[in-house]
Amino acid sequence: IDESSFWATANRHLTRYGGGSFITEPIVSASGSWVTTAAGRKVLDFTSGQMSAILGHSHPRIVESLARAAGSLDHLYSNMISPPVVDLARRLAESLPAPLQKVQLLSTGSEANEAALRLAKLVTGGWEVVSFSRSYHGVTSGSLSATYAAGRRGYGPTMPGNLVLPTPNSYRPELIGPDGELDWRRQLDLGFAQIDAASTGALAACIVEPIISAGGLLVPPPGYLRALQEKCRERGMLLILDEAQTGLCRTGDWYAFQDEGVVPDILTLSKTLGAGLPLAAVITSAEIEQTAFERGYFFFTTHTNDPLVAAVGNTVLDVLESEELAARSRDLGRRLAARLWALGDHLPVIGDVRGRGLLQGLELVLDRESKAPAETLGDRVTQLCWEHGLHMNLARVPGLSGTFRIAPPLTISDDELELGLEILAQSLTEAVG
Ligand code: PMP
Repeated sequence: IDESSFWATANRHLTRYGGGSFITEPIVSASGSWVTTAAGRKVLDFTSGQMSAILGHSHPRIVESLARAAGSLDHLYSNMISPPVVDLARRLAESLPAPLQKVQLLSTGSEANEAALRLAKLVTGGWEVVSFSRSYHGVTSGSLSATYAAGRRGYGPTMPGNLVLPTPNSYRPELIGPDGELDWRRQLDLGFAQIDAASTGALAACIVEPIISAGGLLVPPPGYLRALQEKCRERGMLLILDEAQTGLCRTGDWYAFQDEGVVPDILTLSKTLGAGLPLAAVITSAEIEQTAFERGYFFFTTHTNDPLVAAVGNTVLDVLESEELAARSRDLGRRLAARLWALGDHLPVIGDVRGRGLLQGLELVLDRESKAPAETLGDRVTQLCWEHGLHMNLARVPGLSGTFRIAPPLTISDDELELGLEILAQSLTEAVG
């Protein structure tokens, strides 16, 4: 392609939408763990596209399933129910603890969270929603209101009843206990004391990611989600877990909440469920679904229960099972974390490594003692990585330093992972040198 006319047309016609600057090379194809530029350069994808392509790009079984569905059963009016939809609902329910039985298929994470909030409001009769200071849940009114403040310019006031808890951060503890560690129990108690004071008695739900991703890859301390669920139960609120990024083997389990001894009242899945195609699910108990139905639950989108992407969802589950990708994610994640910590032996700008499975965060600092945020270093490293053939994502959150979110496809090979780490090490060394 003629790159100058490509960019001239792109600049004339594409709306700019935030989320960092565009990559300056056109991408013309993607396969497995790689994307290919117009100049024929191959770049390793350490972000699984938008944290979604857990099976890599154009996995042959997904391509086959998509082609078959496109040629036989593509799209239906949403009150027509087809076998791929019923199969996917059953299989998701079977993969989850018993209460989570009822599945609605949608297209995006924003929609799934919006639906979850609607269910919670209907069932509890409340309308106040508790979320976390660093959560990301989407761009629609309810999901945006539950999302950290950075992306709301021009939106105006958030939804009434939007109440916010501080996000526990073990690396930069806001509240230190007698053991010198983050006193998350007290932080949670204080947070809920403020919520109780602000609430008008209409609490409906608390929504949270089991591992906060876009907000800086923050893993809650063990026991935190269970304590949070207790607080919710005491107040008659439902707990919504948003597993857009963590669901379906990404963290080494089928679902991240399995590690925490909690079962959410409502679970939302998106990104990883379609492995790069627009598919999302909101999953809840038969009891909650029944009450919501009786009270007139109405959440009806053009693509609700669409067979085409449901067929793909079934194939995603097939591949996750047959390639044993939960175990693979766990093993590679351990290796990845160990290698990232080892890089820190020579690179004092590596402040912290945290995550589970193939969802790892690498926080950069000026030095380990002060933990001062390395404001521009992350951007320089991202740029150098790209030039050397590695795509990296930097979560930039005010007050936190740049934190890389390393989330390659679960199908990445040992050699590809090694190569990516070498490029990252080289780019970090160049950037600090
Ligand atoms: N929840 C989480 C945890 C996410 O990471 C995202 C997407 N970044 C969303 C919800 C929103 O999903 P979508 O962009 O598909 O609407």
